[in-house]
Amino acid sequence: MTATLSVDWTRCDGHGLCAALLPDAIVRDEWGFPIVRAGAVDASDEADVRRVVAACPALALHLEQR
Ligand code: SF4
Repeated sequence: MTATLSVDWTRCDGHGLCAALLPDAIVRDEWGFPIVRAGAVDASDEADVRRVVAACPALALHLEQR
């Protein structure tokens, strides 16, 4: 099973907490909004990614199992 990280743009405020906590997977664009580097989350990173999803103050991050 593959996990995919996505951003709900209607909620994201672009302050970049997620990119600071998960720099290997998320970078910021020129306006500060997050860009998820790889859609698929490695199974070994999933616990860290779940913590970042929970930490997003705008509840804008979602991890979907496919
Ligand atoms: S932590 Fe949440 S609100 Fe902040 S930039 Fe990341 S996705 Fe957007």
